[in-house]
This record gives sequence, structure tokens and C-alpha cells, in this order.
Amino acid sequence: MARLRLAYTFGSRLHLPLRGGTPSFGMRPMSRDRRQKRDLHALNDEGMVLCNPRDREAAHRAKMEGIATEDRAAVTCRKCLSLLYERDKVRNEG
Ligand SMILES: [Zn+2]
Repeated sequence: MARLRLAYTFGSRLHLPLRGGTPSFGMRPMSRDRRQKRDLHALNDEGMVLCNPRDREAAHRAKMEGIATEDRAAVTCRKCLSLLYERDKVRNEG
């Protein structure tokens, strides 16, 4: 009996730039990360989370948990980033 072993692993490793001193926790299986690294959200002028501007609770929690920043270079939330980008566009055009 011949045993065939298919050992194909597709090189789908993502190279994400890691900023900050986040320790990497080794190799993880390719599954949905439930406990992903937290995104950093941007705050708007009112101190609300940019991608969730109506939720005061979210803003409060974001501040408490340190997942909101006014430093837009540190923002990692894609939604916030695109919103920041949109705001810039509006400002530049206006
Ligand atoms: Zn966000």
C-alpha cells in the first residue's frame, strides 16, 4: 500500500508591518482570529470613535482600553483610516 501524502502548503504568509512593541505570539493556525490584535481607532473632534461616532459607550471604552489614539499615524482600524482619508479629501477640496 502506497501512502500518498499531499504536503502542499501554499505560501500565503502575510507580511504585515508591525509597529509598536507588540510581541508576536508565534505561529498560529490559519483560522479566524477571534482575539486579534486590537485595532487602534481614531478619535474625532468630539472625542468619539471615528468609525463609530454615535456610540458614546464605544468612545469611553476605547479610551479606557487604550485603543483610541489621536495620533493618526498610529491608527490601524481600516474604517477609521478611510474616514480620516475622506475627511482630508473634503478639507483639501473645501
Ligand atoms: Zn475604527
